[in-house]
Amino acid sequence: MAKLTVNDLDVRGRRVFVRVDYNVPMEEKDGRMVINDVTRIKETLPTLELLMEKGARIILASHLGRPKGKRDPSLSLRPVAATLADLLLRPVAFVDDCTGEKVEKTAEALKPGDILLLENVRYYNEEEANDPAFAEKLATVAEVYVNDAFGAAHRAHASTEGVARVVARRGGKCAAGLLMERELKFLGEELENPARPFVVILGGAKVSEKINVIDRLLDKADTILIGGAMTYTFRLALGKRVGRSLVEPDRVEVARAALEKAKARKVPFLLPVDNIVATPVETGRLNRKGKPVIEWQNPRVNDSLDIPDAEEGMDIGPKTRQTYSETIPKAKTILWNGPMGVFEDKRFSEGTFAVARAVADTTQKGAQSIIGGGDSVKALNLTGLTGQVTFVSTGGGASLEFLEGKVLPGVAALADK
Ligand code: AMP
Repeated sequence: MAKLTVNDLDVRGRRVFVRVDYNVPMEEKDGRMVINDVTRIKETLPTLELLMEKGARIILASHLGRPKGKRDPSLSLRPVAATLADLLLRPVAFVDDCTGEKVEKTAEALKPGDILLLENVRYYNEEEANDPAFAEKLATVAEVYVNDAFGAAHRAHASTEGVARVVARRGGKCAAGLLMERELKFLGEELENPARPFVVILGGAKVSEKINVIDRLLDKADTILIGGAMTYTFRLALGKRVGRSLVEPDRVEVARAALEKAKARKVPFLLPVDNIVATPVETGRLNRKGKPVIEWQNPRVNDSLDIPDAEEGMDIGPKTRQTYSETIPKAKTILWNGPMGVFEDKRFSEGTFAVARAVADTTQKGAQSIIGGGDSVKALNLTGLTGQVTFVSTGGGASLEFLEGKVLPGVAALADK
């Protein structure tokens, strides 16, 4: 059932506790933390502008990084308050804590349309433990609860789940923000009954992370295209040699089961027929984490399904690119999650970029395209095609769990319409 949203709320003069995802990438410059990418802040503006228009007194809460229950100044949300104020062209108050007297006083003083950002909720271990007493404390200032942090909704934490329970118990409303609403619409409702053909493209590093999604989508998709390192676990399942490619030998059985399910359901399940391979060579250097630095030498097209022992599969090859680029335009609905190769290295990016172009072109011709978060979003951004797809999910892990059909605790805690 659809969830209650901010559109349905009457919040004039009410204190609305909004869980946002301001887990933005930060970097130290000249002794100051600066925000590298403000996308996540911008994405909350429609919800905040609507709440301001409705005369809500807005209290924002978020996590940032992993301070592990300590006050780590490099993970303070203070710089976010300044950026948000710049974007909204109005002041945003900030309190250097997320519970306590100072928070309560500042929240009490908010006027309709005013905004207060609280300090990083993960300065307290109780946040991730979803400690009921901590949730009560957070909820002291909350008359209404709004969750706009889809990317954190797969976690049952105090600010994503506990507070909502407290507010609901007291008779307050718990609703989805506009960003959350869009995520639920595109990853949920739209994919329940997709316009057909429904083509699913899955790539990325690991079969283990996506096997449940593959299994679920085998019930829905008309065609599945596979790329990325998960190719090689499927190749192992087919008795092929994978050289030094990234594989998960302990997942060969689940890969085989997926291939059998695809066959039984007559869902075309396309694996790459060729690859770009390269020879990994140790440089003798160590990176900042103390791990050996590898260089990939002599990239070349490998036309065989077997990869020689000294080489590693890095991208889909030209024949596969061509097949995938011809298959994608047949779709009326496209779901894409995970790059086709190590796209961060230009030499191995062509497969991912070809898929990105085909997805964007097909969207322009009327198909619906949904990009399932994580690294495919980064790849899409690199091609400059982000504006040419229908929907780009803001959740990585959350999108995958949602696509698997799991109930997300942060969503379950919201009221139905
Ligand atoms: P995921 O988070 O599972 O979508 O994985 C994304 C990562 O998979 C990216 O950083 C890619 O570099 C990596 N990846 C894609 N293809 C390969 C490959 N053939 N070998 C190793 N890593 C890959």
